[in-house]
Amino acid sequence: MLGQVVELIEKKSCFAITSHMRPDGDGIGSGLALYWMLLSLGKDVEVVLHDRIPPAYCVLPGSDDVLIQADLEKEYDAVFLMECSDVERPGLASLKKQFVVNIDHHSTTEDFGDVNWIDPTAGAVGEMIYNLTKALGVEVTKEIAECIYTAILTDTGSFHFSNTTERTLKIASELVRFGVEPARISQALFYSYPFSRIKLLGLVLSTIQRDESGKIAWVKVDQETMYEADASEEDSDGIVNHALSVDEVVAVAFFKELSPHVYRISLRSKGKTNVAKVAELFGGGGHRNAAGCRIAGDFEEVRQRVIEGLQSAVGVTPVAV
Ligand code: 5GP
Ligand code: MN
Repeated sequence: MLGQVVELIEKKSCFAITSHMRPDGDGIGSGLALYWMLLSLGKDVEVVLHDRIPPAYCVLPGSDDVLIQADLEKEYDAVFLMECSDVERPGLASLKKQFVVNIDHHSTTEDFGDVNWIDPTAGAVGEMIYNLTKALGVEVTKEIAECIYTAILTDTGSFHFSNTTERTLKIASELVRFGVEPARISQALFYSYPFSRIKLLGLVLSTIQRDESGKIAWVKVDQETMYEADASEEDSDGIVNHALSVDEVVAVAFFKELSPHVYRISLRSKGKTNVAKVAELFGGGGHRNAAGCRIAGDFEEVRQRVIEGLQSAVGVTPVAV
């Protein structure tokens, strides 16, 4: 609960902040916003991530201070986990011995922390952190505003997704009042890609296929294609959304080969089609319109299982594809 988080911050002094492996805009942005907030309160605080920050987010204030470590190296009064579905997702083994504060907006996340603040009505954890500034009476500096704006902008798909609410837009407008320049942030996030990303996009989009209903589409990438495009891991982020831009398509899957016979699957949908339920069938999770999971197996078999899951989520009669 928010009240418990406020009390903890007021009473304790030595904190760490982390997020999931392969951190995204919401994990990094909300984590850095909390970092600036705790610094302004005179707290001793470190941001520790298992994986490096993707280049697009290196413009965020405080990103240079982030420690990239295989594990936590000391004991803190509390460690904040930003948008993590479980205690394993940050990839920091000794977290189990720490006092964990679980802050998330995914309805599938359980109360695994010592303190849990989960608000599925928030469009991004960034929105929750904005509310925390109010609850703590912290001044929203330009640094805090830029970090929260980035969290919200990325998690709402630039205000395209259904998690964009009146509150989201109200917070965004207040952040602009606190010094955010929207065009500058969008330029850094969406117009500063390496060539390899666009090369990869072209190769992956050429794999697009759809089922007989035309409502379900999928794309895939294997290790060879990643190599051909000279692509980094984060170059494949976001490609799945392009498949969803076809008019009649309502659910899509992106199959990414991590190693031979191991696939990470990103699922996206429009409207009421719930892809989190499909991801959960395979041990993953996420939101109604954006979810993911990992499956091991032969590609054709993995693809068949996922597409059948999507067909039943969309409500079309499953046919072999
Ligand atoms: P993405 O496809 O961008 O990796 O993930 C989309 C959404 O699904 C994100 O909100 C992410 O947290 C969630 N997600 C992706 N993979 C997993 C997973 O393996 N487990 C859980 N619980 N959620 C996931
Ligand atoms: Mn999020």
